Amino acid sequence: MTGKKIIREKGYKFRLYPNKKQKILINKSVGCTRYVYNHFLSKAKEDKYKTYTEYSKQLTQLKRELMWLKEPDKFALQNALKDLDKAFNNFFSGKYDFPQFKSKKNIKNSYRTNKFVRKSGTTNIEIKDNKIKLPKLGWVKFSKSQKVKGKILNVTVTKTNTDKYFISIAVKEEIKKFPEVDKKIGIDLGLKEFAITSDGEKKANPRVLNKYEKKIARLNRSLARKEKGSNNWYKTKKKLAKVHEKMANIRLDFLHKFSTKLIEENQLIAVETLEVKNMLKNSNLAKSISDVSWSKFIEILTYKAKWYGRDLIKIDTFFASSQLCNNCGYKNEEVKDLKIRNWKCSECGKVHDRDINASKNILDEGLKMQKAS
Ligand SMILES: [Zn+2]
Repeated sequence: MTGKKIIREKGYKFRLYPNKKQKILINKSVGCTRYVYNHFLSKAKEDKYKTYTEYSKQLTQLKRELMWLKEPDKFALQNALKDLDKAFNNFFSGKYDFPQFKSKKNIKNSYRTNKFVRKSGTTNIEIKDNKIKLPKLGWVKFSKSQKVKGKILNVTVTKTNTDKYFISIAVKEEIKKFPEVDKKIGIDLGLKEFAITSDGEKKANPRVLNKYEKKIARLNRSLARKEKGSNNWYKTKKKLAKVHEKMANIRLDFLHKFSTKLIEENQLIAVETLEVKNMLKNSNLAKSISDVSWSKFIEILTYKAKWYGRDLIKIDTFFASSQLCNNCGYKNEEVKDLKIRNWKCSECGKVHDRDINASKNILDEGLKMQKAS
């Protein structure tokens, strides 16, 4: 194990409750950053995109001409230029479209401010109880649903078109490795259950997902009946987006909790990767959703294993994990049939739960692979 520090960046999102005066200033700041972004985008469109440094100089000049640009905090305006710079660099990379003007009508409008430490040691952004100190705004109330750990880098203040306010706090946090443990586990990702472990645990998909899947199907049907572009069409589309977002959040929360538990409890985790899983052809909605969850799950497991000092063994070559008897190694080809949930080994007589047997084989294969490497 290396002693190298692992630093991660993390974001915390909270609802913000500014008072009347603070709301006015936030709205102004949002407006000013939008103005700056659009102003320099339009300049870049007329001529060609210059550089962040060049526009930064021009911004100083612009602030002399337009006094109202001095009202919001200066980082907000600089960050608008940085965002524009990023948008252009993305465009130049060929992977993104040409940057677009920011519109007041967007569902969300925001500005970003940076933290800095003054020579005196005081800072422009601080958190105390359920209040956050922000440049120009002073102390603003927020609903602190969890503790903010790590060093604050910047804060994004967002205003929605329904007049709700939010903050995203970006932090840098040092990760401490978990103490070593002896336990090892194999995981079989499934359709019926989300995962089956070699410990014999069947981890069900979050129940609510089923409910949301039905709701999504219903809203999709409703959308198809409406005239495209009509008010009702937009309303339904918005509803649909909200359900999708809710479902994605629930799924992600589930993946985080389950992966953290596995990483905490086990020194080695063996899992079959998606390519293998895809050999089981099936193209319904449940499958496509599982696909997304599986790849996300493996992605999360991968970085958490690295962070916390665990071994993740990804098995990406096909081996007959369900067909092999974990007790004696006999291969029962009949188990290819997905309908067979339990089977008795004709060689050793052991009775298997299909998926638990598979996850035990996955663990054994993982251990073999670890030894060979
Ligand atoms: Zn057997």
